Amino acid sequence: MLSCERLTKSFGQGHVAQQVISEVSLALHAGELTLMMGPSGSGKSTFLAMLSGLLRPDGGAVQALGQDLWQLGDAAIDRFRLAHCGFIFQGFNLFASLTALENVLFPLQYTDLAPAEARARAAAALDDVGLAPRAHLRPLELSGGEKQRVAIARALVKHPQLIFADEPTSALDGSNGSIVVDLLHRIARERGTMVLVVTHDPRLHSRADRIIELEDGRIRRDERIDNAMPADAGKEGA
Ligand code: ATP
Ligand code: MG
Repeated sequence: MLSCERLTKSFGQGHVAQQVISEVSLALHAGELTLMMGPSGSGKSTFLAMLSGLLRPDGGAVQALGQDLWQLGDAAIDRFRLAHCGFIFQGFNLFASLTALENVLFPLQYTDLAPAEARARAAAALDDVGLAPRAHLRPLELSGGEKQRVAIARALVKHPQLIFADEPTSALDGSNGSIVVDLLHRIARERGTMVLVVTHDPRLHSRADRIIELEDGRIRRDERIDNAMPADAGKEGA
């Protein structure tokens, strides 16, 4: 459902040019949680940005939900991201003046859902992350783990088919980190969503279906993990 072919990216010019991603090819599947690991500076965030329509590659192609992503016009790429992608980055980026519920409602204002229906969807997304009782609080009144869960609810509220998370647990302690990863794992399983998580956190291994390790812009390791997954994994195919 999401793949790339010989994806390449350099930064800088001339003798200071640095190839950050070197002809990486990869296919990611519906219903699977894939971890992307690797040393700092190995190109993980750059790679995630190219796969998700945020950063134009220098070479290669991305096939996303049957579309040749980087052949679309800029406006169509923006629409693709809005319609199909959920993003979870570290640092939350919540609106401080809005309640948890209002933050989660925010992405739904550009849809044609009726207001009552949108509120119900947002409330359900908060409930999914265990924060229904905190819906009326603002970010300042929430703990770090709770804020990250609000950010996740906001990324999930439109039921995107593709979820991209860059260090979603780096600001969280062990138990909050586990809550977040369990949740992403459940979403992948229950909704057949493709979930790609960039992380340094080895505690997340136990929830992953697959671990990919980048080093110097290339895939150094690509391994399936048998976490006794239910038989419905990958039911939507590749
Ligand atoms: P970390 O684990 O520290 O987040 P990473 O694997 O995500 O690292 P990237 O952020 O992808 O690494 O960066 C890879 C390399 O590309 C780094 O050397 C970085 O300095 C460089 N780089 C990334 N973005 C840019 C940019 N916009 N302009 C110039 N260089 C960049
Ligand atoms: Mg990074």
